[in-house]
Amino acid sequence: MKKKDNRTLISFYIITIFPEMFYSISNYGVTGKAIQKKIINLNYLNPRDFAKNKYKSIDDRPYGGGPGMLMSVQPLYSSIKKAKSLLKDAIVIYLSPQGIKLNQNNIYKLIQRKEIIFVCGRYEGIDQRIIDSLIDEEWSIGDYILTGGELAAMVIIDSIARFIPGVINTKKSAEKESFYNNLLDYPNYTRPKTIYEMTVPDILLSGNHNKIRLWRLQKSLEITLQKRPDLLEKKLFNKEEKVILNKFKKK
Ligand code: SAM
Repeated sequence: MKKKDNRTLISFYIITIFPEMFYSISNYGVTGKAIQKKIINLNYLNPRDFAKNKYKSIDDRPYGGGPGMLMSVQPLYSSIKKAKSLLKDAIVIYLSPQGIKLNQNNIYKLIQRKEIIFVCGRYEGIDQRIIDSLIDEEWSIGDYILTGGELAAMVIIDSIARFIPGVINTKKSAEKESFYNNLLDYPNYTRPKTIYEMTVPDILLSGNHNKIRLWRLQKSLEITLQKRPDLLEKKLFNKEEKVILNKFKKK
């Protein structure tokens, strides 16, 4: 990812009727720091501010009847158009349970983008004509229904942030996390060596880096086999991993 200007690496416009919800990611933790450092540029547009009707209403009844309301077309359409005029190279993503399901592998596709507009639905969702005319992609955070797209947008921004250079010690951290190389993370321990009558495995105190690396690899394989064997079905094993797996089989 190349720097767009002196600082900003990725810019977001969030179309939301609840911009305050984003306070949590913009003021705390790793994402908060990235925004302070201007590595991430987070902006909001509220469809209510674009509503041309007398009461500034932003919802309406669905044609054909049925439960609930939909987001009104005009305020949402105008706010997305405005965001597109401000971020000219942006991809427009609608957060939707019908979208591409987010996982650690396809986050990479999103990090290639320098500009992203997220459209957060509310109520029973948005008018199909907005999807047809203004949305480039739909993304989901899982097979369940949220009350709005805001939490989904925050989940995606948070997961993207970890891969932006300068936000965390990117490469090393990412390479030890669960899902890297289709393996789950190995068990981690910190000081003190003994607490509540529980101790740290001796090997981690040995100072032998190769033995520690092999122990961690073995634990990762073991844990993945126990908790998420489906990940191993997609995995290409290297020589070292094959030797460890054969040992498991013999046991
Ligand atoms: N009627 C819609 C459907 O069944 O596909 C669901 C509407 S949902 C109650 C309201 C909004 O929450 C959606 O417009 C979408 O923006 C967001 N949303 C709900 N579940 C989501 C998920 N799993 N991933 C991403 N966004 C979601």
